[in-house]
Amino acid sequence: MKSDLLYPRLKPAHSVLYLKNRIRLGQGPDYAVEVDDPDGRYAVLLPLLDGQHSMADIIVAVRPTLSEDEVKQAVKALHESGYVDEAPPDLTTVFSTPEVDRYSVNMAFYELVAGSESAIKWQSLLKGTHVLILGLGGIGSNVAVAMAELGVGTIVGLDYDSVELRNLNRQILYSTPYVGERKVQTANRFIHAFNPNVHFVAVERRIASEADVRQIINDYAIDFVFCLADKPNGHIDFWVNIACQRVGIPYVGGSISGPIGTAYGVVPGQSACYQCEVDADLENHPELVEELDYIRQHDVQSPNSALGPACMFLAYFLSYEFLRYRLGLAPMLTVNQLFQVNFVTFSQIFHAMVRRPNCPICSNTSSSALSEDRM
Ligand SMILES: [Zn+2]
Repeated sequence: MKSDLLYPRLKPAHSVLYLKNRIRLGQGPDYAVEVDDPDGRYAVLLPLLDGQHSMADIIVAVRPTLSEDEVKQAVKALHESGYVDEAPPDLTTVFSTPEVDRYSVNMAFYELVAGSESAIKWQSLLKGTHVLILGLGGIGSNVAVAMAELGVGTIVGLDYDSVELRNLNRQILYSTPYVGERKVQTANRFIHAFNPNVHFVAVERRIASEADVRQIINDYAIDFVFCLADKPNGHIDFWVNIACQRVGIPYVGGSISGPIGTAYGVVPGQSACYQCEVDADLENHPELVEELDYIRQHDVQSPNSALGPACMFLAYFLSYEFLRYRLGLAPMLTVNQLFQVNFVTFSQIFHAMVRRPNCPICSNTSSSALSEDRM
């Protein structure tokens, strides 16, 4: 039997325990696999499967403890069962040395779910990704941190508020010494110190139209948008929805009202959009038309009662939505589904969002058909 691997490597996601008369890959009751090794022969082999030694070198190094056939047979069996793969190319040609170290655990995760080749490809893809976070409040702060943890190369954060003491129960980017400072300035300092390998772009700007959103998307070549701003209330979600449809990029939105967290996602051309959902609501509850008009005319702000852990939960849920989409890990959960979680009972519900054939925003692919008066 032969193995085709040139530089075999035990996947770093598996811990190796050299126990009495046996070697175990993985830990705990759900450990991955165990190899009988009463005479300790394979304990000589496994440390050499580090991706640094070629098969030829390994065969020589373990002789005469193991024969060439025994080495090849063992490596082949471990390869076929997914514990050993080909050593990845020199990562320092793709990432800086600090990046290789920083993202090693992320890549161990990607290797587990997709193999080493995809792990490098995915980490590189994230490095080349540009995200826009509209609103660096409770959810947006945590999303910004999550994007920096994932190694998203360009994180554009937009806000125009200053840090207030009352923000500090949930907005992780800010702390007591920075009360009164502009949020984007504090956020920029935090992310730069947290992960100097990512580029944080601080945009201090008040969004006043769909065109403003579209301009920022185009200026920074944005791939994915997080709509987490609550101002101007009654407008911002509509503007982001139209802008993303026009540019053809996906976005997710999220909010928290008391104990209820809500999230939705839109992939242009593939899913229902925000306007579809609102129009369905207004059709079922016509009285809400007057309410929406009032909110817009009087710039009514929703009272805030969100706890820090709720913001973290929703932010990390949305960050996984981004990851699912960007890496193709799995279908987004919020496409055509509105997600709601009750933070007191932790019950979770997905409501169907149905694409409306006559939706003025997503039913017509021609951008000229999008009318400003629908916003
Ligand atoms: Zn629609």
